[in-house]
Amino acid sequence: MVSQCLPETAGGSGEVTRADVLWADMFQLAIRCCTVPLVMLLTMAIAAAQDKGSVTPKPLPALANPTDPALAAKELFARKLSAAALPPQPIGFYAKGCLAGGEALPINGEHWQVMRLSRNRNWGHPDLIAMLKRLANVAHRDAGWPGLLIGDLSQPRGGPMLTGHASHQVGLDADIWLTPAPNYLLSRNEREEMSAVMMVRSDRLDIDPASWTPSHLPVIRAAARQPEVDRIFVNAAIKKALCREAKGDRSWLGKVRPMYGHDYHFHIRIKCPASATDCEAQVPPPPGEGCAAEDFAYWFSDSVLHPKPPKTPPPPRPPMTLSDLPPACRQVLQAP
Ligand SMILES: [Zn+2]
Repeated sequence: MVSQCLPETAGGSGEVTRADVLWADMFQLAIRCCTVPLVMLLTMAIAAAQDKGSVTPKPLPALANPTDPALAAKELFARKLSAAALPPQPIGFYAKGCLAGGEALPINGEHWQVMRLSRNRNWGHPDLIAMLKRLANVAHRDAGWPGLLIGDLSQPRGGPMLTGHASHQVGLDADIWLTPAPNYLLSRNEREEMSAVMMVRSDRLDIDPASWTPSHLPVIRAAARQPEVDRIFVNAAIKKALCREAKGDRSWLGKVRPMYGHDYHFHIRIKCPASATDCEAQVPPPPGEGCAAEDFAYWFSDSVLHPKPPKTPPPPRPPMTLSDLPPACRQVLQAP
């Protein structure tokens, strides 16, 4: 795979955070790679994973005209506070779809705690929930972490979000903090206010040895080894560290893909479940470990590390509407 045109970007991982996104670069990449769905890049609502929440979030006001065809779909999905009572089904693509029959990850498990409860984004397909519960135990066993801190999964019915991710729409994506859970139960307030730890060195060419520990590799490796997992997104500096540190079986490294952002958390994406007929799969990652110098050339290039703002900022595009999503997403919104 040519390093200039990475599959995650070309395939639209939809996972980008404010800290590292540079529109100029994204557009260059879009042009180079041709296959980038421009509309997706343009409609990404970007929010840092570090955004804090509140223990008393204000309910969203009622919509004046919820049937307006020009209405942003994120406004509709953000107002659904419970799952659609339908058989579990991811519908559409990771960055353009919705979720039927979502299941909530309990906010506390033996080896995990859910963060930013005010966002109500601890919902996913049952396969994702089952994988996370299993992973939390393996990470505890292999890395000695008291537990995982779980960031955003999806909204109860998936779909686009008012803030943050372009992906996480079909209940098959989850963010895990690169900070171990403490050995006590976090308060509601701590879950809104606590910050994850920056893992990337200030020159962005490697991990920060002050924060990266030997226990990080076994956590990410455990995630990559789960059979449902399609790929893991991390900052390129983190991938570089994993390539350097992995001993023995390295076959899992291929699933770990460099991506913008992801300095504080890693992102797990699972495959479309075998039974999911309306789920659009992502092209498989290219073969190999992805640890060669050319695999990092793009990510460590000057234009990515020190991006320049575009001369003319791209015009804002209208957000995704309900008609941009798969038709079955209407039933997901209408379901009890
Ligand atoms: Zn994510």
